[in-house]
Amino acid sequence: MADDQPKFSFIIPLYNECEIYSELIIRLNNLIDKIQEPCEVVLIDDGSKDITSLLMEETAYADPRYHCLFLSRNFGHQFALSAGLEFVRGEFIMVLDGDLQDPPELFFEFYQKISEGYDVVYGVRKKRKEGLMKRASYFLFYRILKGISNYSIPLDSGDFAMMTRRVAKLIVKMPEQSRFIRGIRSWVGFKQIGLEYERQARGAGETKYTFKHLLKLGSDGIFNFSTFPIKLITYLGFISVFSSFIYFLYTIYRKLYYHDVPSGFPALVFLIILFGGIQLISIGIIGEYVQRIFSQVKNRPLYVVSKRVMNSKDVTDE
Ligand code: UDP
Ligand code: MG
Repeated sequence: MADDQPKFSFIIPLYNECEIYSELIIRLNNLIDKIQEPCEVVLIDDGSKDITSLLMEETAYADPRYHCLFLSRNFGHQFALSAGLEFVRGEFIMVLDGDLQDPPELFFEFYQKISEGYDVVYGVRKKRKEGLMKRASYFLFYRILKGISNYSIPLDSGDFAMMTRRVAKLIVKMPEQSRFIRGIRSWVGFKQIGLEYERQARGAGETKYTFKHLLKLGSDGIFNFSTFPIKLITYLGFISVFSSFIYFLYTIYRKLYYHDVPSGFPALVFLIILFGGIQLISIGIIGEYVQRIFSQVKNRPLYVVSKRVMNSKDVTDE
């Protein structure tokens, strides 16, 4: 560990958070004073249009434990976090929102788990102090994602987490453009554990995640971590083809025993369902290739080694 490397880093993205800013800094200062180990706080301004960036500068000039990154425009929460993760120097990294919905004081509980040997400790939201609609959509989203994703992504957990440096660096290494950090974080593997906490109501200001942003985040989660939507097309195709044959047999049966089948019409229906199905299967096949191209261009590492034992010694990669 380099001499000036802090032991703990906090990453906090901020977008138009001037209303809560001073309270955030007070809470952070109190926390850092209690920790009694070298800490750094990396604040990322995600292109704020209010005075957040000025306030950040003021803090960073006055206190060397604070570092600031100013993005050139609003790139979005996930990108601001990625910038922070890339910049950070600490051995253990805590990621939290700037609106105090994730209590920074959970640091001690998180670190307790890290000291027990976990690489990632993430917060699991026990209760959300948010509107019914938002709670219901999150609830559904995480269950759908868990049901169809190719990796196990924990339920009800966001980006609020503490991780070791090697996990942070692996997340940064992932070159995917549409970022769903909580998914990448669990993809990385190692020992991970969730800690339940009560998600607070926003300290001040309004949510910066509009419905549109949430939809984008949700679809990034689903399409980056699941191949189910593509497989679904193929399944529908097979169901369609199968139903067309059932319909065909049923028509013959009616024709033979009831003689009430109009001529021409059933053949048309049969062909429409049959060819609809064949087209769906064909799209599904193309989808399989597209999916493979997609996973190739995402260019994730093929595997992650957590430890090597060589010449009778443990070697841990960063
Ligand atoms: N945020 C950001 N860029 C954005 C939107 C949000 O950096 O484009 C920050 C925001 O300042 C906050 C955190 O990300 O610190 C979470 O955002 P928010 O509280 O609005 O989301 P919610 O908690 O409502 O899902
Ligand atoms: Mg929030």
